[in-house]
Amino acid sequence: MKSDIRVCSAWRERHDRPVYTLSDTCPECGADAANSAPAPFDPEDPNGRYRRSLKERTRP
Ligand SMILES: [Zn+2]
Repeated sequence: MKSDIRVCSAWRERHDRPVYTLSDTCPECGADAANSAPAPFDPEDPNGRYRRSLKERTRP
């Protein structure tokens, strides 16, 4: 399952820290939002189960 959480692709230039969003664009600057962490949430990742459990704890 892919992560729905995205991060502002330009946050390093425009923000002090990553701006996360569930939308396709950054809510603060309007830049494209990119998948926040494709590798950690890759289902092929041998450590994926551990990382997915981390992700679930961060969900509301
Ligand atoms: Zn932004």
